Amino acid sequence: MTKKLIFGLTALASIASVVVSDTCRTIQDTTAIELDHPLSTDYLTENFEYWSTACSALKPSCILSPTTAEEVSTIVKTLRANGNTEKFAIKSGGHSPNKYFASIDGSPLISTRKLNEVNLDAASQTVRVGPGNRWVDVAKALDGSGYTPVGGRIGDVGVGGLMLYGGLSFLSAQNGWAMSNVLEYEVVLANGTIAKASKDHNKDLFDAMHGGGNNFGIVTSFLLQAYPIDNEIWAGYFIFTPDKQSQILAAIRDFTENYDDHPKAAIISTTVMPLDLVEAWLMFVFYDGQDPGDAFKQFLDIGPIANTAKKQSYASYLEANNFAAIRGFSYEMGTETTPLPAKTDVYVLDSYINFWRKTAKTLFATAGIIASIAYQPVPKRQLRIAKEKGGDLLDMDENYDYIVFEMNLSYINLPFDWDDKRVQDAMKTLYTGQKALIDGFIKNGSLPSIPHLPLFANDGNQGQDYWGRIKPEKRAFAKKVQELVDPDNFFRSRTGSWKV
Ligand SMILES: Cc1cc2nc3c(=O)[nH]c(=O)nc-3n(C[C@H](O)[C@H](O)[C@H](O)COP(=O)(O)OP(=O)(O)OC[C@H]3O[C@@H](n4cnc5c(N)ncnc54)[C@H](O)[C@@H]3O)c2cc1C
Repeated sequence: MTKKLIFGLTALASIASVVVSDTCRTIQDTTAIELDHPLSTDYLTENFEYWSTACSALKPSCILSPTTAEEVSTIVKTLRANGNTEKFAIKSGGHSPNKYFASIDGSPLISTRKLNEVNLDAASQTVRVGPGNRWVDVAKALDGSGYTPVGGRIGDVGVGGLMLYGGLSFLSAQNGWAMSNVLEYEVVLANGTIAKASKDHNKDLFDAMHGGGNNFGIVTSFLLQAYPIDNEIWAGYFIFTPDKQSQILAAIRDFTENYDDHPKAAIISTTVMPLDLVEAWLMFVFYDGQDPGDAFKQFLDIGPIANTAKKQSYASYLEANNFAAIRGFSYEMGTETTPLPAKTDVYVLDSYINFWRKTAKTLFATAGIIASIAYQPVPKRQLRIAKEKGGDLLDMDENYDYIVFEMNLSYINLPFDWDDKRVQDAMKTLYTGQKALIDGFIKNGSLPSIPHLPLFANDGNQGQDYWGRIKPEKRAFAKKVQELVDPDNFFRSRTGSWKV
């Protein structure tokens, strides 16, 4: 009880000590933009809205919640005025666990939560979506309309971050990355201009924003292609015991390679290991229609111990999936990209998981530790479609299939950051170790020799070199665009995330 009281008082004291910044004071004195001060209910609520408690532990000097692109422009101009050099952060759903990407300490936070339009135009099959939405908000707003954009798979995730770094969707094998389906970005540039970028207008900016993150401006809306969807789809979860690992990995391999046979089917297969409990495989299964036929037969033949798949609305599935976005923990996330092995070399997929398990177990003394690794198929048909739609900075070779790993370590954030370094080090060991394994398997011929294996930034760790893994010519192109739209490096020097 006493301990709890001390923690509570410490948290309050740290909020109370936040100094009101120049930007916050100027915005408050000269505009009607919504501004929340530390200790106000709206501030506490919004700053709690991060997936990782390590991000919530940072305390912005104020939270600005603009409702229009014009208000965002005013904020940008204020941040530039009169020698103001304050750093700031832009937040959508707050699901990036990387500290200072969408979170900040002692400086203003721009929350997009009130840029939350969802406007369907069924005639043109497009939907305009504000970055302040979560994917469940979008699905609920469109529920029953017969249309959906290509978006996130867990309802709680934000629109802004997912769209700007690629976006893997249950609909990706049919329509490419989520970003492949952006028709227009409305974006506030470094000089405060409200610009539109599409294939016909500011095309270089449009292209650079396909995977370029927050390097070019603050997006105030996305115009997205909308696709017909039944009022009910077939979806749920399979759960497997860990002794089925080899069969599951073989089935994931075959499922990925044979995507052309079942383009409407999708999986995310994750093994989860709470270190003091038993490990289990959790597989999200989705079919864009009501009858999956035998698309999941190979998995069902393995014998899941639970199978919740049923007909339901897309919105209710995305909402139900929120159980996977557990709050109340600190997170470290990391990724790697492996070519898909041939059937005869499926042992490669086992090796990754065995290495992951061995590394995660070194954290047994960390409070509340839970480790997970997800195998996410990125099939060649997804990449082919992405290219047909104009391509992106990732520019992955569409002649190959891939698996993208999402690796998470969650733990309880104790005072004085006792476990932070230990968990960060373990995550670094995980992503560098997986890369070394991939390189080794390419060298010994167990994997196809693909020189270009970019990182999927949505699952990336801040210690990973996102831009270093983009092709040099694509990176140079993005850099040229950044220099054109932000010549004095306003976003580059004053916001977090990977900088081109
Ligand atoms: C539980 C969970 C499930 C996930 N599921 C998926 C999935 O199905 N598919 C997938 O692809 N990824 C998934 N991810 C990864 C996710 O896409 C990334 O974490 C993404 O960054 C989250 O977006 P956000 O808007 O919530 O992030 P935020 O943390 O709010 O922002 C992330 C980054 O984007 C920038 N940003 C956000 N909005 C804007 C804007 N309007 N203008 C400029 N910059 C902006 C921020 O500054 C920050 O750098 C998942 C993550 C979690 C934790």
